[in-house]
Amino acid sequence: MVLRNPFVTVIVTGVPGVGKTTVLGKVAEMLESRGKRFLVVNFGDYMFSEASREGWVRHRDEMRHLPLRRQLQLQEMAARAIRIEGEKRLGEEGVLLVDTHAVIKTSTGFWPGLPENVVKELRPDSIVLVEAPPEVIHERQMRDRGRVRSDIGGVEGIRELLSFARSAAMASATLVAASVYIVENVEGRPEEAAARIVELIERLR
Ligand code: ATP
Ligand code: AMP
Ligand code: MG
Repeated sequence: MVLRNPFVTVIVTGVPGVGKTTVLGKVAEMLESRGKRFLVVNFGDYMFSEASREGWVRHRDEMRHLPLRRQLQLQEMAARAIRIEGEKRLGEEGVLLVDTHAVIKTSTGFWPGLPENVVKELRPDSIVLVEAPPEVIHERQMRDRGRVRSDIGGVEGIRELLSFARSAAMASATLVAASVYIVENVEGRPEEAAARIVELIERLR
């Protein structure tokens, strides 16, 4: 079995509103200024473009409440499309960063974002888990008016999901011998979390 892509692959996970997309924006700026070849992709974007084209959802936060078989279909499609994009755009020197989730709180229960078929398609070197205290994440969710994350269930729901997120990240990492790298996204300083991810990338090969 092929465990690795020719390019370095890092999957970035964390509960909704912890700051993955914000931190990855900073990572992109840092890699750009170093002249590195890289690609940042958002797994949910791939799923959402298909789901909205089909007329299944109007908003990305509705996807985790679709029938589970539809989510499964979207998830498989996204994983395949992302790897194809990585192969097209990156050579051996490149870095692929995937903005996604190790666990999704669906209407059918906690569901793996990186089950065997997905993680073996993406072939990560490392799975980053972005964390912050549950109270802080809750405040970020409340401030971010463009998104609907109330279904995560407030501070207690976030605390429960944080615990599932660690277990889920390690379970997925085990399938492909990837590391799990925990990064704290400190309030007001997303660039620090980004710098830790850039350091990680440098240690992967
Ligand atoms: P989702 O999984 O739902 O896409 P996410 O993890 O990508 O969420 P973001 O959209 O990046 O989260 O961030 C959520 C909110 O928190 C945004 O309003 C963002 O500006 C804010 N935020 C992110 N990181 C920090 C930080 N370090 N300090 C303060 N605010 C932050
Ligand atoms: P995000 O903007 O990262 O919150 O992604 C939007 C939505 O896409 C999530 O709430 C999930 O419904 C879905 N999604 C993202 N990544 C995955 C994944 N790996 N597996 C299943 N669903 C995902
Ligand atoms: Mg995001």
